[in-house]
Amino acid sequence: PKLEPCAIVIFGATGDLTSRKLFPALYKLYASEDMPDGFVIMGVGRTEYGDDAFRDKMREALEEFAPNFDHGLWHKLASRLYYHTLEYDELDGYKSLEKRLQEIDKNEKANGETQGNRLFYLAVPPELYTTIANHLGDAGLAAPGQESGWPRIVVEKPFGHDLPSARELDAALHRSFSESQIFRIDHYLAKETVQNILMLRFANAIFEPLWNRNYIDYVSIIAAESLGVGHRAGYYDTAGVLRDMFQNHMMQLLALSAMSPPSSFHADRVRDEKTRVYRSLRPFDVEREFKDLVLGQYMSGTVHGEKVPAYRKEKNVPEDSNTPTFAMLRAYLDNWRWQGVPFYITSGKRLADKVSRIVVQFKEIPHSMLRGVVEQSIEQNKLFLGIYPDEVIHMYFMAKQPAPLLCLSPVYMHYGFKESGVGPELEAYEKVLLDCIMGDQMLFWRQDGVELTWGFLTPILEMCDDCGTMERHLHRYKAGSWGPNEACELHPGFFADVTTSTS
Ligand code: NAP
Repeated sequence: PKLEPCAIVIFGATGDLTSRKLFPALYKLYASEDMPDGFVIMGVGRTEYGDDAFRDKMREALEEFAPNFDHGLWHKLASRLYYHTLEYDELDGYKSLEKRLQEIDKNEKANGETQGNRLFYLAVPPELYTTIANHLGDAGLAAPGQESGWPRIVVEKPFGHDLPSARELDAALHRSFSESQIFRIDHYLAKETVQNILMLRFANAIFEPLWNRNYIDYVSIIAAESLGVGHRAGYYDTAGVLRDMFQNHMMQLLALSAMSPPSSFHADRVRDEKTRVYRSLRPFDVEREFKDLVLGQYMSGTVHGEKVPAYRKEKNVPEDSNTPTFAMLRAYLDNWRWQGVPFYITSGKRLADKVSRIVVQFKEIPHSMLRGVVEQSIEQNKLFLGIYPDEVIHMYFMAKQPAPLLCLSPVYMHYGFKESGVGPELEAYEKVLLDCIMGDQMLFWRQDGVELTWGFLTPILEMCDDCGTMERHLHRYKAGSWGPNEACELHPGFFADVTTSTS
């Protein structure tokens, strides 16, 4: 796909996501000459700004969040930047927005024409997605132009709050946009290390023959955070860790770990295979209730040497909140490849450190010729796919120590993305924005996956919504620990999986 000119129209441009992520990413793409020749950026919101005041706000954001900010470059970029005030629920504002975009196209030849291509990025609270999508449709901004010009719409997670609301949102988006115009972002997918999972698995002959129930003991998928809820407490308390992390990032990591090879590297063929994984998820057995699930909430503690309050003492969190901030789920896939192999999926806030990785533990050797010969136990092979902080592929295996007496020890093979010295990598939001401009949906959610994952999580979320159940089953853990002790009972390898050094 080629980079076509376009107008990037950001709804909610006065907000946190735009200042911290979107605008620094656009700036960096511009600095590295990766933007199309013709483009403009139009901020949209209720806040009254003129173009110049908005430019000042974006400059301040870049000074804070963009490394190597260059004033000369900024002046060039600023001339492509505009702001349009509207009320999200008033149609007239959308009509005048289109008029302005057309005028800019006519008058601003220096910045190249956008050829009627529009990327509508909804960086607003999710309650507004439906209103904005409908108004874009009603104002004629969603229909592709007769001769040229594509409109695309980009939405951030959460894609709904549960299965019915996800379906409602989808129906609203599809009222005006077709599936090929809808980009549901999961910025985790745009991380280099996450993209590499498929390359490691399917561009090498040595892994795939082992990648199944015959050789793999378990797969552990971990996204541990040391931060608390911060300024997102209001949203987080209604979502909890299952909606905030599991329905999106964790399920994508599961699909990438477990999917079968697609026939081609085409967005829909890859997403077909992910969908097959979600269809294979064994429905959560509510009868077994917490046999396959540990939920927790952080108490006060010390993280990285700093004292931090309990979740219930965070600003905007009710004192009796039973929202889980930690979850470990043991999931099974009912298919030939994975029958009986547990996938431990774990995420939590205020843990000891920020660590994201996938750990694949291989089975024990079937028979040891070294019984009675060496004292050391023969450890199972482990493959670490590090996402954060170590961006690595790290494989443990047993080897003979150079010594006169026979002695074994675990050693490792290591590949580090940063150390490899291969060109500058794109930050996740840079990649996401580029793909939206190119119209490449490979790294974006398709609606069938969204619905299947919500469907899988629904019985668990219903349990979480039941106060009595949560009173009995929500475990408290100290901030700065690795979560409730019960997690290590469910998955005894968790501590080693999350703490083993891979640097
Ligand atoms: P935000 O700062 O709370 O809001 C963005 C803008 O939306 C505001 O500046 C405001 O602009 C407008 N807005 C309209 N109605 C609002 C209301 N009732 N409350 C607050 N703002 C309202 O949101 P954000 O953090 O930028 O996030 C935008 C979207 O990205 C959300 O859907 C969020 O879930 C998602 N997201 C954010 C992050 C992140 O790191 N921030 C990460 C992942 C996903 P005007 O008043 O000028 O209209």
